[in-house]
Amino acid sequence: MFELFRFPGGVKPASHKESSAAAAITAAPLPQLLVVPFRQSATGSAAIQVRAGEKVLKGQIIGIAEGAFGAAVHAPTSGIVRAVESRMLPHPSGLAAPCAVIEPDGAERWVEPTPLDPYNSDPEHVRARIRDAGIVGLGGAAFPSHVKARTAIETLVINGAECEPWITCDDRLMRERADEIVAGACILGRLMGARRILFGVEDNKPAAAAALRAAVGESDICDMQVVAVPTLYPAGGEKQLIRVLTGIEIPYGKLGPDFGVQCFNVGTAYATARALLNGEPLISRIVTLAGNYARPGNHEVLIGTPINALLALGDPQPDTDRIVMGGPMMGFTLHDTTVPVVKASNCLLAMSPALFPPPPPEMPCIRCGACTLACPVQLQPHELYWYARAKNFGKTQEYHLFDCIECGCCAYVCPSRIPLVDYYRFAKSEIRAREREKAAADLARERYEFRQFREEREKVEKAARLAAKAAETKAKLAREAAAKVGAGETAAAGEPGKTVTAPAAEPGKAETAPAAADTTNAAPVNDKLALIAAAQARAAAKKAAVAPQNTAELTPDQQAQIAEAEARRAQIDASKDPA
Ligand code: SF4
Ligand code: SF4
Repeated sequence: MFELFRFPGGVKPASHKESSAAAAITAAPLPQLLVVPFRQSATGSAAIQVRAGEKVLKGQIIGIAEGAFGAAVHAPTSGIVRAVESRMLPHPSGLAAPCAVIEPDGAERWVEPTPLDPYNSDPEHVRARIRDAGIVGLGGAAFPSHVKARTAIETLVINGAECEPWITCDDRLMRERADEIVAGACILGRLMGARRILFGVEDNKPAAAAALRAAVGESDICDMQVVAVPTLYPAGGEKQLIRVLTGIEIPYGKLGPDFGVQCFNVGTAYATARALLNGEPLISRIVTLAGNYARPGNHEVLIGTPINALLALGDPQPDTDRIVMGGPMMGFTLHDTTVPVVKASNCLLAMSPALFPPPPPEMPCIRCGACTLACPVQLQPHELYWYARAKNFGKTQEYHLFDCIECGCCAYVCPSRIPLVDYYRFAKSEIRAREREKAAADLARERYEFRQFREEREKVEKAARLAAKAAETKAKLAREAAAKVGAGETAAAGEPGKTVTAPAAEPGKAETAPAAADTTNAAPVNDKLALIAAAQARAAAKKAAVAPQNTAELTPDQQAQIAEAEARRAQIDASKDPA
């Protein structure tokens, strides 16, 4: 007997799944144009690899995964890229992003498939293949699967709960393609070293659980178990299903791998098996048409198929007043049905006033606390509502706004019919927009500061270079002047009348070289010469000072005696033999 646990809160809305779950999956026809967004993962866009006019094959990569969190994007069929341009995406914000507009040629020519043995390949290689096959979470989050498959875990949970009313795409997938789901679960389990794999299926889908059990029974790769979990919305939430199957309560700010558990949707497991065992990238998904249709059902749809082309398959009734992407609890209204099907599109719910009566007017919050009791994440929805309404976004974050999974349980039970989730989405988008603005401002400031720093550094470096050059020139000139002075002194010693002004007269060299280098250098040369002249004058004076002074101021007798002595000396010198 498998022990199950209860998660807090939750509600039990009517399921309305019978009509769309009754019929088998059919392939949607090829549309006239496919609009394939390059942004199909929760973590950003793929890098564009095609241009208008280029021919593409089915499954060809048209956007490569960028960075550690990227996921690739592929051509869903063969044809010609008619444009690469910004188109509106199916997103609550009406976001536009670059898309490849592909005109199918109808030939459905595939690129060469490249399967990979996941059990005898390097795990990094397997993860790279999952990334390059464009596998993202198909439960609606569209988070890249190769990133989720990076952690070592004890238990892998495969999410087949599909708790949201009206949606049956996972139910039909489990019933019809259980073998591939189990194969994909085994690949993911092996990749993360999981010791056991638990398939969680709500107990209102007995056929799906039976199909999985049959597939699990035939597999001997992993320890696997299919567990029927009580039908209670939102049992398909990741943390809620982990809680139900393992008893682990994952607190605020933590994720399953922090507790040795990871969770993938059944559609993601299926896509993983197709990518590795068949070499087929993720180019299609199952989409439920439910609600106000003449022909509700599930269709395998190429990514990029315009939603209005798909709606025609279900034939919406004339009183349909809007189309919601997703279910009635977590979905959002599409304001334009020309937007394409993306990897996160699980259901197109046709609404009518008869099926979904407009809510009564919003009333003031009476602080009854019903929303708090219903919240599966144990938040305080009415506090979040007050602060979001007052645009006190700091306080909404203090009350863990970003832990809100937008399940809608609080709004479902609110007696005042307050569209609480709308307030939370508004607050989240405002906070994200402000963070983006702040990040852009921070980046601009950092760039400005860096530019200032660079300019300052260049200024200092330039000044240092000039100073070094000036010093070098000065030293060189001094050396040259000293050399010339030395030469002048030598010349003066040997050639009476030649003076230390000789450097100025040296032909062609001393006159032109310093002048060409720097005209201001004439002054240092003149200074040097003046110093040398002064030094020579001082030396001459000193010499004169120390010379004998006994011939000055003599009497005529003394002078006569000296003259007589000099005459005798001359007479003696003349009488000497010259030999
Ligand atoms: S359920 Fe509605 S009325 Fe009651 S506390 Fe919550 S928000 Fe207020
Ligand atoms: S929408 Fe958010 S606040 Fe409301 S019940 Fe769900 S998790 Fe709680």
